[in-house]
Amino acid sequence: MSDAPLAPLIASRIAADGPMTIAEYMAMCLWHPAHGYYATRDPLGRAGDFITAPEISQMFGELLGLALGQAWLDQGAPDAVVLAELGPGRGTLMADALRALRAVPGFLQAAEVHLVEASPVLRAAQARLVGEATWHEGVADLPDAPLFLIANEFFDALPIRQFQRDGTGWRERVVGLDGKALRIGLSDPLPVPALDERLAGTAEGQVVELAPALPAIAAEIGTRIAARGGAALIIDYGDWMSLGDTLQAVAGHAPADPLARPGEADLTAHVDFAALARAGRPARASRLTAQGRFLERLGIGARAAALAQGMSDPTRASHLAGYRRLTAAEEMGDLFKVMGLFPEGAPPPPGLDV
Ligand code: SAH
Repeated sequence: MSDAPLAPLIASRIAADGPMTIAEYMAMCLWHPAHGYYATRDPLGRAGDFITAPEISQMFGELLGLALGQAWLDQGAPDAVVLAELGPGRGTLMADALRALRAVPGFLQAAEVHLVEASPVLRAAQARLVGEATWHEGVADLPDAPLFLIANEFFDALPIRQFQRDGTGWRERVVGLDGKALRIGLSDPLPVPALDERLAGTAEGQVVELAPALPAIAAEIGTRIAARGGAALIIDYGDWMSLGDTLQAVAGHAPADPLARPGEADLTAHVDFAALARAGRPARASRLTAQGRFLERLGIGARAAALAQGMSDPTRASHLAGYRRLTAAEEMGDLFKVMGLFPEGAPPPPGLDV
């Protein structure tokens, strides 16, 4: 058996209660209070397990902040708005956004910063960079006000269930035991009404995924934006409807076996943006826009050049490598997508295809 401390706890739960869904397994791995991956550590950055766009370059948070600032201006610069981020990691993105938003007259006076974060370790990191924030457990706890929201690599961390096509129905992929080792198995056939519409586009044996927590979160955001105004920028990897097993584990910047060291690797899955758009109604959803194209439209090229002027190597070379990493098609530029939510009748946030 794996020597990760969480492995025997998961094994004994399976021994007592039977196989668990992938979502239950992910939730334990990420959020077990004593051994959960996010519950106990800061996994980000070069020394951690993976690196995210805001940790690669300050330009990412600056441009996302300014895009929300533009959306705020386009909606008549309302007073008393909420500037929110879901899963802010180390707080880098929000700190960069706030610095850039000083250039938008009136925005910072009108906005209060609210962060949705479940990890105590990451809340502490965020407090060091964004001291003025208020923290919440979930989107439903945000104040009722026009909502300008960013979520980068948040939705990919939500636990998913996986279903394998079996005739005209489904079997669920579950985590069970093979001796003492964790193994993926299949449940008996079961009805999944939420997947009825996927029967048309799937073949025998294909896997589809559902993130059970996603619809309520997206609905909360979309309802607020439609009723009160605002805009959301959601950035993640994934596509319009996910197909196949996209569960992946990353540890030490390398792919890992999701079952090998529970609690000690990051577990994520591709985001189904179609599910986000559907649940986000009554707000309007933009089309999916590749991250590289989105950042280029927001002027990342000019910003990169301006910053490079004041730099000398090796800082300059690593700055330009960061620009490339965020935008180039073969790096993060095409894999990561941006979707905006905005009120019907309002202009879409800048940079997005609609
Ligand atoms: N946005 C950051 C961090 C991405 S990692 C960046 O781009 O660097 C995922 C973040 O979401 C972490 O901060 C994690 O603790 C948080 N998170 C994941 N699931 C969550 C949930 N259900 N509720 C609140 N925060 C969550």
